[in-house]
Amino acid sequence: MRELTDLAERFGTPLYVYRLDRVHRAVADLRAALPRDTRLYYSLKANPHPAIVAELAALGLSGELSSTGELASAIRAGLPPERCLYTGPGKTSEEMLAAVKAGIRLFSVESRTDRDRLADVARASGVDVDYMVRLNGTATAGSGLRMTGRPSQFGIDVDQTAELAAVLTGRSRARPVGAHVFAATNVSGVDALLAEFDLSARTAARAMESMDSRPEFVDLGGGFAAPFAQPGERTDYSAIRAGLERSLDAWLPGWRSGEPRVGFESGRYLVADSGFLLATVLDVKRSHGTTYAVLDAGVNVLGGMWGLGRLPTPSARPEPVPGADGTGRATLVGPLCTPLDVLGRAVDVSDLSVGLVLSIPNVGAYGLTASLLGFLSRPVPTEVVLDAHGEIADVRRLELRQVERADERAHA
Ligand SMILES: *Cc1c(COP(=O)(O)O)cnc(C)c1O
Repeated sequence: MRELTDLAERFGTPLYVYRLDRVHRAVADLRAALPRDTRLYYSLKANPHPAIVAELAALGLSGELSSTGELASAIRAGLPPERCLYTGPGKTSEEMLAAVKAGIRLFSVESRTDRDRLADVARASGVDVDYMVRLNGTATAGSGLRMTGRPSQFGIDVDQTAELAAVLTGRSRARPVGAHVFAATNVSGVDALLAEFDLSARTAARAMESMDSRPEFVDLGGGFAAPFAQPGERTDYSAIRAGLERSLDAWLPGWRSGEPRVGFESGRYLVADSGFLLATVLDVKRSHGTTYAVLDAGVNVLGGMWGLGRLPTPSARPEPVPGADGTGRATLVGPLCTPLDVLGRAVDVSDLSVGLVLSIPNVGAYGLTASLLGFLSRPVPTEVVLDAHGEIADVRRLELRQVERADERAHA
């Protein structure tokens, strides 16, 4: 394995490094926790990096996409369109058309309008598409970020029975095949997550009673937890499998013979621990009793949702720097001209000094592309991918650039 500091020297910082050996391990761990013959979707939202998507495609995963950019990333990475599911609450006709043209035939629909738009696109394209109806079911008392059982832009409330029955009825060229539930995310308790899946399976089974045909596919979503931007391990879910099988036997009794097929989704669990962000300390300052370590990485490259107030506290923690002694406690800030540019407070940093390279672990999911890339117009960091042997497999840099819309000007 290459030393991360060597990579920082060679490519400069801020630098994202992804280790594919860790992606392999996460996939193996999650597969071992899920019932056999169920489908596992990778949610590209967590990290659409083409080398990561290509690796997951090669490992046989399916893809859950919700934009034309993710669609392009999936297709370029060799993810077969027949293994992709297109989701999201505000799908335009144009993007559905792009998905259909790329060969996508399975969608999750969120409302009657969404279903009708899909049916129109399918008819205009002369193809048949399948869809699942996304449900907003009832809530367990569990943890994590709740997605159902309360007001939400996602899915159809299960107590809106007339609306639900209407959307579960097909249109020409658009056929309902089942239900999609995504109840909660980042649920680190095995029993809590099992309770979510049990309720989701029951909710889906009830909702599908009003279908004319037999359900063919049920997507029970995810919720598998992983640490973010601090040292830590993925949750061990190996104990969930037996309970999951009991729930499927209870609510979806044909599942063992694929009637319906059952799917699960994950983003963070599969890729979070593959990623590291390397950042250099540019300045160390004291102000009113607090030490500030000014890094070359801020909310423009990590944890942008902290800056937006969507994550409660900036809590990035670098890994201990090997061989260092002495400890300094500092607020980690980035280089942006806003007091919101904070990555972590009261962080212990060994040998804090100008020029020190810090490594923030567990940022393979919701790292670079979940950040405020355009804010302050700084270059986007380079991303390096290390293969299973620790050798450099891919080096690239995402770019945001102005494109003159000469075509639009001509019509003005
Ligand atoms: C974001 C998302 C996921 C992935 O969530 P993780 O917490 O990263 O596993 C799965 N399914 C849907 C529908 C999503 O929107």
